[in-house]
Amino acid sequence: GENLLEIKDYCVTYTVDKINSYAVNHINLSLGKGETLGLVGETGAGKTTTALSIMGLLPKYGVKTSGEIWFDGQQLTGMKEKDYRKIRGKRISMIFQDPMTALNPVFRVGDQIADVIKIHNPKLSHGEVGEKVDEIMKMVGIPPERKVEYPHQFSGGMRQRIVIAIAIACNPDLLLADEPTTALDVTIQAQVIKMMKNLQKELNSSVILITHDLGIVANFCDKVAIMYGGEIVESGTLEDIFDKSLPHHPYTIGLFDSLPNITEKTDRLKPIKGLTPHPSELPDGCKFHPRCPQCMDKCKSGDNPELYIDGTHCIQCHLYSKGDK
Ligand code: SF4
Repeated sequence: GENLLEIKDYCVTYTVDKINSYAVNHINLSLGKGETLGLVGETGAGKTTTALSIMGLLPKYGVKTSGEIWFDGQQLTGMKEKDYRKIRGKRISMIFQDPMTALNPVFRVGDQIADVIKIHNPKLSHGEVGEKVDEIMKMVGIPPERKVEYPHQFSGGMRQRIVIAIAIACNPDLLLADEPTTALDVTIQAQVIKMMKNLQKELNSSVILITHDLGIVANFCDKVAIMYGGEIVESGTLEDIFDKSLPHHPYTIGLFDSLPNITEKTDRLKPIKGLTPHPSELPDGCKFHPRCPQCMDKCKSGDNPELYIDGTHCIQCHLYSKGDK
């Protein structure tokens, strides 16, 4: 059917002091209504730039984009700010990593939730807005009586629930969650993810969950896209990505090997060697080649490896490219 979100051959280049950073390179993504996508990779892989692009929040200067982003039949790329304001916060909203920057310390949390509801539903009466605030606070597991409190009176996990309440206040079609639980400790993380999953099902929102943590993806997402050096190096359904009997991009294999595994001894933990390249210093050839344990001569130069495609599963690697066999 029709996709809610469709990203086509999209690129973002930042230019600072005449140095170009290729933050996002020719990515393609699609997301249906009610689907959840995990966008996985290390810092600097292009995940946040992708999310800010969808939100229309890229910096105004020093940024060049190409390609297209379609949302529910409208093209977002190049949309006027005045039109974007009707979508942002209402039809598409975003949860950021640090709840303190997303909340205003001097306003009561209930008023901050009410503000979003009022902006997008100017016809609601004072009483109706109040009822909606109570309802949303209950949905995120906070007693509505606490709406008169200020952000600093809540724990980290509770604050992130308030941020989520603000993000879902208008029942968005698409929710972007950028490392929503990274700042929280592990048990609270699991609770917040479980709550988000329940909300997502209840509201039938589409969600893009940005994370470096494949464990969170396993509990949340239908689809997965693995980003490296501004590119999507592997994508597929959750089953495609988590099925060890299928071929995988060496970077994906590295991510799995670096996951703490509760069923095995942790001395098997193998972090991926080397660092994610800065987007201004991407290598030629396959962007992963300086870190790849299976690197071959042809990986070190030339164009990107041709995509290997098997149904819903895609891998960008010479090990599997058709023309290479
Ligand atoms: Fe490794 Fe080559 Fe595949 Fe890149 S193309 S991931 S360097 S094997």
